[in-house]
Amino acid sequence: MIKLNRRIAAIKPSATMAAEARATELKAAGVDIISLAAGEPDFDTPERIKDAARRALTDGMTHYTPVSGTAALKEAIRVKLKRDNGLDYEPAEILASAGGKQAEANVIAALFDEGDEVIIPTPAWVSFVAMVNLSGAEAQLVRCAEERGFLLDPKQLRNAITPRTRGIILNSPSNPTGAVYSSEQLAALARILLDAGIWVMSDDVYEHIVYDGAVPHIFQIEPRLKTRGIVFNSLSKAYAMTGWRIGFAAGPREAIGAATRLQSQNSGNPNSITQAAAIEALTGPQEEIHTMMAEFRARRELVVERVRRLDGFRLPNVPQGAFYVFPNIAALIGASLNGTKITDGNTLAELILNEAHVALVGGNDFDAPEHVRMSYATSLANLNQAFDRIEELLRRLKH
Ligand code: PMP
Repeated sequence: MIKLNRRIAAIKPSATMAAEARATELKAAGVDIISLAAGEPDFDTPERIKDAARRALTDGMTHYTPVSGTAALKEAIRVKLKRDNGLDYEPAEILASAGGKQAEANVIAALFDEGDEVIIPTPAWVSFVAMVNLSGAEAQLVRCAEERGFLLDPKQLRNAITPRTRGIILNSPSNPTGAVYSSEQLAALARILLDAGIWVMSDDVYEHIVYDGAVPHIFQIEPRLKTRGIVFNSLSKAYAMTGWRIGFAAGPREAIGAATRLQSQNSGNPNSITQAAAIEALTGPQEEIHTMMAEFRARRELVVERVRRLDGFRLPNVPQGAFYVFPNIAALIGASLNGTKITDGNTLAELILNEAHVALVGGNDFDAPEHVRMSYATSLANLNQAFDRIEELLRRLKH
């Protein structure tokens, strides 16, 4: 056994990425797998964005750029934050990174330390906890009730704040639940957060994937939070650009400066060609988002209907955003097939993968072991076939 860094040794691989990798591996081995595990749109990156990348290559934009992104990209991000979120930021308050993930990891590492607590309302995206733990801080998970639509209750928030609390990570629309906070709900949380004087991090990566109206921003509702507020966003989901790796953080100059120094030492600037493509994505015509949403809307309708027909699956809330459903599968715990017993969401996901050849992600690492996450970022035909297979498997279970 080699001795690893204590914090690195404690890191598990991302559950969502592991599920997707396992599906890819089985597919490569010739197994006919349908994946509902992916956390990415199945659409291709719009042509206008690819064209911008081709132009950047032709123009020789193949060198280092400033670590936090080119001036032109930061200007595009500034314009986007104003246009879509009503938020004012200056270039020195913006950090572009290799994906939202890197921006988040660097800011979290810069802000928190041993002895600090960071509140994470759950079910939550698997990487938040890992990022907080890597900073040395402790993730304080606050489980939000399914009956309240998986939204953080202001009373729960008040109770979770201790003298050591230094931050909170909000994510609306949420991966994995699809929950979206209303303006009133955000205002109620904002009042408590303002009193607490802690860092408020808002992960907005699914902001455009929303089924009713626009997603309100907590910093627009309570602008005073901005002095200790960080916006996280990404081009991955809105522009089908997951592989390009581009995202950003915006916040107070000192916080962004510290995260930029960290990035200067551990990776440097995000890909220069991607940056040029990102400018086009953010500032060009935004119509593709509507086309993508029309497709997601039809899929959501199908998936909600089919999940609700599955024996042992419960889906009380229709997701309001993102492209996931997060049904409760508690009724299946204890059932078995060919000697394999279902003990939680992870074992059910494993059984469904092995027996029905459909990949899902168990809820365990989202802090919801009685759930599974199903992504509907795949065609209606694939979705129908996946649900046929799952239905058939559920009929074979012994209770
Ligand atoms: N935040 C959330 C909530 C996510 O689901 C993801 C991607 N799964 C990210 C951030 C990061 O995305 P990326 O690094 O591709 O920008």
